[in-house]
Amino acid sequence: MSVPISLEFFPPKTPEGAAKLRTARRALYTLAPEFCSVTYGAGGSTQEGTFGTVGEILAEGVAAASHFSCIGATRAKTREQLALLRQMGVKRLVALRGDLPSGYGTGGEFHYASDLVAFIRAETGDEFRIEVACYPEMHPQARSPEADLQAFAAKVRAGANGAITQYFYNADSYFRFVDEVGRLGLDVPVVPGIMPITNSTQLMRFSEACGAEIPRWIRLRLQGFGDDSASIKSFGLDVVTKLCEQLRAGGAPAMHFYTLNQSTATLEICRRLSA
Ligand code: FAD
Repeated sequence: MSVPISLEFFPPKTPEGAAKLRTARRALYTLAPEFCSVTYGAGGSTQEGTFGTVGEILAEGVAAASHFSCIGATRAKTREQLALLRQMGVKRLVALRGDLPSGYGTGGEFHYASDLVAFIRAETGDEFRIEVACYPEMHPQARSPEADLQAFAAKVRAGANGAITQYFYNADSYFRFVDEVGRLGLDVPVVPGIMPITNSTQLMRFSEACGAEIPRWIRLRLQGFGDDSASIKSFGLDVVTKLCEQLRAGGAPAMHFYTLNQSTATLEICRRLSA
């Protein structure tokens, strides 16, 4: 690998899950990640697990970023949580709007992630490095790609230092997005989010929810493998390694792996990229 990498985890729900994640992290630290980030359930539902996992990563001597979503949150509660993160020695945040399950009203004081970024800057100055999300294939609720790009620009102008993309399997969508960001004069790194392919049912479900496109040829091949998990994994490694090679050759500044708390696929992709 000649570009820096970062790794994303979700907070485990059980002691067994926490033990498995520790084992996965130990293996993944051999990749010398620039930082590891931990997702945060919208509405603060995973706050304890998120901050707990972030604390463990810091104690392991690795830089950690806490994801932080603002939907449904109040300013007072957000201020308290920022104070807690500062106390823990967290220096990086991934600032998001988040999604509440349908049926929940927002009841919160922030509408968009740009409001959260502006609030964090107003409250804590430059204490945190802030990443935000971006969507080369457009966020599913955006009115248009142009409106989504402007929403991204608002997050950068509010003080974000960098961006991590939603995952995608079409490198052109990323390169086009990066060009458009450059045309707007936004000088921040746009790091591609990489989703290894290990389980096709799970991938289809995630992609349906977040609007990431699975190209037809990938979808058909995955369907053709049925429940032959070895073939899915082998095909997934080939496809995602090739994608990473294209991104690296095209100048991606770093890569952020959605590990789903597993180490094998990310390790193997990085091994192939280093070979
Ligand atoms: P925003 O930037 O606020 O955008 C949300 C929508 O509003 C977009 O359609 C945008 O175009 C539109 N919009 C923004 N500003 C305006 C405006 N001023 N006027 C009109 N429209 C506007 N979710 C979690 O719950 N927890 C996590 O830990 C988490 N981590 C993630 C990490 C990454 C790298 C990514 C890519 C996503 C992550 N998500 C997470 C998912 C994310 O919360 C959802 O995609 C959510 O729907 C949008 O969040 P956002 O921060 O991009 O929102």
